[in-house]
Amino acid sequence: MASFRLHRPQTLGEAVRLLEEHGAQAKLLAGGSDLVVNMRMRIETPAHVIDLSRLDELRAIEFDPERGLRIGALVRLNELAEDDLIRLRFPVIASAASQVAGPNIRNMGTVGGNLCLDTRCVYYNQSYFWRKANGFCLKKDGAICHVAPGGKRCWAAYSGDLAPALLALDAAIDIAGPRGERSVKLAQFFVNDGIKKYELASDEIVCGVRVAPEFADWRGVYLKYRVRSSVDYPLAGVAVAARVREDGLCDDVRVAITAVNPSPRLVDGVRELVIGQTLSAETLEQVAELVRRTAKPLRTTVAASTSYRRHIVGVLAKRGLIETLKAQR
Ligand code: SF4
Repeated sequence: MASFRLHRPQTLGEAVRLLEEHGAQAKLLAGGSDLVVNMRMRIETPAHVIDLSRLDELRAIEFDPERGLRIGALVRLNELAEDDLIRLRFPVIASAASQVAGPNIRNMGTVGGNLCLDTRCVYYNQSYFWRKANGFCLKKDGAICHVAPGGKRCWAAYSGDLAPALLALDAAIDIAGPRGERSVKLAQFFVNDGIKKYELASDEIVCGVRVAPEFADWRGVYLKYRVRSSVDYPLAGVAVAARVREDGLCDDVRVAITAVNPSPRLVDGVRELVIGQTLSAETLEQVAELVRRTAKPLRTTVAASTSYRRHIVGVLAKRGLIETLKAQR
């Protein structure tokens, strides 16, 4: 690991000042489960690391019937998965948090870290020696993309599990920086490019995430396909959230996918097919087709073919809808 200077701010204001001072030379450390691995492989070589672990103001899970849910960026994933309020009133979030990696990572990993996860590609998540022997790639130190040669963008897959669950609840992300605080919808925060990844300046910090009160008590589930189900990143993931009427029909629904594009994506057109309708085999197949069309997996992994990942994301969407509507009855 390359040497760096470690900073330990005590307040968010101090962290913002440090980041303003060091900007692109600095990296933020929360749980470290993504950053430290990348630093050991020399994918990241920051001159300054700003450890956020002392910022207790970013650790709360709060719910207010008027203002909705707020989850601080430093809430640990296991805390989120086990929180009674989240499990009861925002089950799609608990479902996603409980499936991130394995228990050790969930004990360290944070909400902010999982949202800002680096994108993944078999040509990128390798040691410096490996990447150098392969001539590096567009995303880091190189000139070409090995997945889509000739292209000028990175197709590495976004592989966070929480983002689709929060997208399905139309969440917004809170950001602080030297120009003040701002809030942006998750759908606008993520950029479908494996290099840029998000709309976040190098001097800004993700402070938390908000869900509007009208999404409380929506049913939901997150389903994930991975090779080792005890620990792996998703190769495809689907979050389904729905408001269901007493007669069992769907009043509103949102479906989001992850790990099959450079950004998590909300699937358009699902509501029109599902709201007020009986969930027939034909409707489920139509939803699966919309999901498959939204997914654009490329050869960023050797663990599953692109055609299988596109197929399975449709299967997960169907299962997620059935499970979500059943849970309400
Ligand atoms: Fe590199 Fe291409 Fe993979 Fe992006 S998709 S990490 S540019 S090889």
